Amino acid sequence: MGDAERNIVEVVRADINLTQLKRNMDFIRKSLKPGVKLMTVVKGDSYGHGLIPISRAVEAWGSDCLGVVRLTEAASLREAGIKLPIVMLAPLMPAQAEAAINLDISPMLDNDIMAAELDKYAGIKGKKVNVHIKINTGLNRYGILPEAALDFILSIKDKYKNLYVEGIYTHFRDPELNRDFTEGQIKSFRDVLSKLSEAGVCPPVAHSSASGGILMYPEAQFDMVRVGILLYGLEYVTGRKLLPQSLQPVISIKSNVIKIREIKEGEHGGYGDKFIAHRDSRLAIIAAGYGDGISRGWKEVLIGGRRAPIVNYSMDGIVADITGLQESIREYDEVVLAGRQGDESISWDEVCRGINVEVDEQLQRITKRVPKNYYYEF
Ligand SMILES: *Cc1c(COP(=O)(O)O)cnc(C)c1O
Repeated sequence: MGDAERNIVEVVRADINLTQLKRNMDFIRKSLKPGVKLMTVVKGDSYGHGLIPISRAVEAWGSDCLGVVRLTEAASLREAGIKLPIVMLAPLMPAQAEAAINLDISPMLDNDIMAAELDKYAGIKGKKVNVHIKINTGLNRYGILPEAALDFILSIKDKYKNLYVEGIYTHFRDPELNRDFTEGQIKSFRDVLSKLSEAGVCPPVAHSSASGGILMYPEAQFDMVRVGILLYGLEYVTGRKLLPQSLQPVISIKSNVIKIREIKEGEHGGYGDKFIAHRDSRLAIIAAGYGDGISRGWKEVLIGGRRAPIVNYSMDGIVADITGLQESIREYDEVVLAGRQGDESISWDEVCRGINVEVDEQLQRITKRVPKNYYYEF
């Protein structure tokens, strides 16, 4: 049963603003050339925003397809009744071919072994399977080399009648920080497309850009872009600040003051000797800890619209020093760990700098016991 149906109010929670998600999606669509398709990448539980609710939302708003990297993600989407095409962006193993066909996904393809397996099961089920050929232009994870593309596609078309080569794509290694290298990748991808076109076998959907590409290389939109972190109003390379003002985060983490404690100079706050009061102090114990994904290095919280330093951590409770903040702070007051409160805000950028981690990784650390609360602004 989902958290919503259980109807339990949890202290620490993730608020997810679907109105902002829609704004972000509209903004990204408007920044694309006419006719460019949009793949919404929903891997990693939609970057921690919830696989099914986000996928349902973007399906309703006209996303052309979804991108995932695990069969379990694709299976969850199909179980939830989502009908959009699902592109599998990471390689499958032969043992996964049958399930891939059953789930009607469009796998990436970069070798003959998987081509044969997919073709075999597609034949057995009487289906045609759409595949996207991956070209390795320098990331050096998956994909075939540019010079092998033409022969590979010709041989697929020749040998595997149940495969339809719908897409061809590449992925950038360092689009935000390395323009020369990325332009080299774009050129090498473009050369492949020309060669395939000359031979009359260019797949209809070419794509190369993820978030960094969308932001920085409008010439590399081709027929589709694959949007991940940008849709969620966030960016990589903390501090690079490429993000347009219109794109705003969708997820906030909130909790509540669960206890207020006055202690004397020299007394402790929480486990060990991490915090010893150097003056008479007022502490707020907040229901959030590394059991929720709130790790050491998360430096401040917002209470009563003001910043308070976190002075100790544990699995379930953090200790914030609110000495000198408003006397009006009370038990059960709202606390913001990431997001806005009044005129103050704690950005994901700030949080991730403190922990020294990229934002997509941090979002994966928010744990399952933190319920997601979806809302529309009104
Ligand atoms: C994760 C992923 C994306 C989305 O990346 P963002 O930079 O978050 O937009 C796009 N393409 C591939 C192949 C991916 O693995």
